[in-house]
Amino acid sequence: MPLPLPSSSFRDLTATPFRETIEVLGGTLEMNLGLTNRVAIISAASKGLGRAVATELSREGARVAICARTAADLVETAGQISRETSNEVFHQTVDVTNAAAVASFVAAVEKRFGRVDICITNSGGPPSKLFKDTDSSDWKSAVDLLLMSTVFFAKETLPLMQKNKWGRLITITSYTVKQPVDGLLLSNSVRAAVTGLARTLANEYAAHGITVNNVCPGYTSTDRLSELTSVLSERNGITQEEVVAGWKRQIPAGRLGTPEEFAAVVTFLASERASYVNGTSIAIDGGIVRSLL
Ligand code: NAP
Repeated sequence: MPLPLPSSSFRDLTATPFRETIEVLGGTLEMNLGLTNRVAIISAASKGLGRAVATELSREGARVAICARTAADLVETAGQISRETSNEVFHQTVDVTNAAAVASFVAAVEKRFGRVDICITNSGGPPSKLFKDTDSSDWKSAVDLLLMSTVFFAKETLPLMQKNKWGRLITITSYTVKQPVDGLLLSNSVRAAVTGLARTLANEYAAHGITVNNVCPGYTSTDRLSELTSVLSERNGITQEEVVAGWKRQIPAGRLGTPEEFAAVVTFLASERASYVNGTSIAIDGGIVRSLL
């Protein structure tokens, strides 16, 4: 049974608790993201960045659907988000490299909630390898994990967004698409293709009321970052603390990011309020990318 959406949800400032009043310089500002009852798919969301995005969207009143490969983690995460936000969270075990599994998940979400408005594409990261140690199967796996998984979600969700003439597709990549990082060959190379895909879809779907944007996390405290820390510690013969200290020296903010800081930006991009942001690649990185744009 489709759930009702406010006809002009971004102007609906009466719908507590989604009305936020922020005190600014003695006055007040009101911000409503217009996410109440929007249906959002977040892939690879049992942990880390995906989980934080699902939590934040659910807090804003969206009905979220999450997937990952490990059923136990997924059940635990869905239950925790749902308890915290009092909103239903749909979940299904999916390997995002499997086109049929992605199609069946998106169909199940549409069946459950009656629509799909927002899709945030995410996956695990590829291994950190040097070029000399990387064989064809590593390249193929990275293409499946990062690029084809995004293609599969875009293919299934964009037609559903077109039905309602409204949509948000947001790809999670990495700040490596703006500034390649030594030792992250597969990420540097294949995420650039995802960024090209997102930019092209932004052109093709804007006329249908759909925005497509790409978000580029910098060093953010998650399990994935802990794994990378231990790989680099071993490879370079330094302690894990020294690896992290090296990153912090490169980050103008002087610290790692939190998944919640990342999720806040993604949630804004998914919202009604970001209706004229299209085709961008936004770094959420504490300033580590040194380029002008
Ligand atoms: P994380 O904490 O390791 O979480 C990864 C999530 O993806 C888990 O829920 C995992 O669950 C799921 N997943 C992995 N492979 C999957 C697959 N094939 N199909 C479905 N779900 C899958 O990682 P994270 O730090 O949140 O990173 C998310 C993405 O952002 C990665 O691509 C990472 O490389 C990138 N990134 C992260 C950072 C950072 O500093 N954290 C910076 C730049 C880019 P299962 O294992 O159960 O499937």
